[in-house]
Amino acid sequence: MPSEVYDNRLVNLYFSVLDVTHCPYCNSTKFYRHGRYKYTERYRCCSCKRM
Ligand SMILES: [Zn+2]
Repeated sequence: MPSEVYDNRLVNLYFSVLDVTHCPYCNSTKFYRHGRYKYTERYRCCSCKRM
């Protein structure tokens, strides 16, 4: 499994459990939702683009 896929799953878990207020990678508060993936919402950070 590519590590990037694994990272995305961790991020989705993070967002599904916690009330998201900032990026887990860079702590930026600038991010936006871009749809849903299964049961969780997808986010993308405007600073590091890692979500
Ligand atoms: Zn970020």
